Amino acid sequence: MSPPVPQIDVLAVFSHPDDAELSVSGTLLKLKSLGYTTGVCDMTRGEMGTRGNPEIRAREALEAARILKLDVRLNLEQPDGHVWPTEEARTAMVRVIRQYQPKVVITAHWDDPHPDHANTARIVRQAARLATMARYDGESGMPAVAMPSIMHSIFSRLVVPSFIVDVSDFVDEKMQAIRSHSSQFYDETSREPETRISDKNFLEQIEHRMRYFGSLISVAAGEPFYVREALNVEDPVALLTRPMNIYS
Ligand SMILES: [Zn+2]
Repeated sequence: MSPPVPQIDVLAVFSHPDDAELSVSGTLLKLKSLGYTTGVCDMTRGEMGTRGNPEIRAREALEAARILKLDVRLNLEQPDGHVWPTEEARTAMVRVIRQYQPKVVITAHWDDPHPDHANTARIVRQAARLATMARYDGESGMPAVAMPSIMHSIFSRLVVPSFIVDVSDFVDEKMQAIRSHSSQFYDETSREPETRISDKNFLEQIEHRMRYFGSLISVAAGEPFYVREALNVEDPVALLTRPMNIYS
């Protein structure tokens, strides 16, 4: 009998092998430092990418996982560019949720302009609910689980963050994890075609964005999240006496 799979406290589910790094890796590093187990599940192998190929991208993802100290990195091998909330995709996600029983799932926002990102958010929301229904995918023999909470990473100014996580202590490791995906980002020796994200300015913009969201809570760097459900606050005084910025 194979050993039981460890429970993962926080699972980040994104579309392409570098998405979690670009969006939420500061938060994953912080949660790991707080003692939580963390994992990333990529929906696709990124085979539609203009640069690199699935084998290179898988190696880069493992290197980034090492830097992020992830307990697990999974890949659902959905078709890149064609991520849809199909029965097959939802069932695959339900099985991951039932196997690892995350307390919190982090994913993209459903209004993301990239269809794969938006559909990944939909698959996660649907699968989180379906995983609680004993008869959904009953043939797998996996028991139903409690529904994980979901936090959405946001990029659009049109979505107001529910909260911002202070990741000031993890900026260098985050940028190092992103740079592990060297086939995708700026490399002056690369002869591959240039893309939006391989432009020299792209990584600077990622860091500037972190600094901007940090400024909104008066810290050096932050990552913003949206939670659709009302937040249940035990102690509003403790919450509201943390550093804030009245000009946010
Ligand atoms: Zn992506």
